[in-house]
Amino acid sequence: MVRQPKPRMKALGNGLYLVESTSKPGIGHKVDAARGKCGCPAGRWGKRCHHLVWAEQMDTWYRAHGAMAAPAAVPTRPVPFRESAGYKALAECFG
Ligand SMILES: [Zn+2]
Repeated sequence: MVRQPKPRMKALGNGLYLVESTSKPGIGHKVDAARGKCGCPAGRWGKRCHHLVWAEQMDTWYRAHGAMAAPAAVPTRPVPFRESAGYKALAECFG
């Protein structure tokens, strides 16, 4: 399988994400991770596109870590970030 370059993503809240197009940089696709829908041509045809997969991974990570509710949260335990579950989830998410 061809490795996809990681896109730029922005969380819009309420399960909505803006995922940058990999074929047209600067163009963003709005993804509804909660409903499994993407605004790109493939997504409009009901195809499970990469934008949706990425948005769902990011959404899962946000939900698991409550990052949406507290974006400025500072870790209080002395766990090295690179060994934390959060980092591993992120590394998986962004390859
Ligand atoms: Zn898409």
